[in-house]
Amino acid sequence: MQVDLAHIYNEVYGMNSSEEKCIVCERSSNDVPLIPLHYQNATLWICPQHLPVLIHKPEQLADKLPGAAGFGKPDSHPHG
Ligand SMILES: [Zn+2]
Repeated sequence: MQVDLAHIYNEVYGMNSSEEKCIVCERSSNDVPLIPLHYQNATLWICPQHLPVLIHKPEQLADKLPGAAGFGKPDSHPHG
C-alpha cells in the first residue's frame, strides 16, 4: 500500500511541509546543520546527531518514515 509521505508531513508539520527541521528532534537549521534526505518524492531533513539512528536503528523512525523498519535489513531474510 502506497503511503503519501507529503500528506503525512502536512499533517505532522502543518501546512508547510517544506519547513526544514530534523525529523527526529525537529530542530531547524538555525540550531543544527541539517542533511537532506530525498525519499518518496519528498525532501526530509535530519541532523548529524540523529543520522546514526537512521543508519543503525531505522526502525525507530518507522513512525516518521514509512518503510524505515526495513531500511537496514537484507532483502528477504526472515532472521534479520
Ligand atoms: Zn535531530
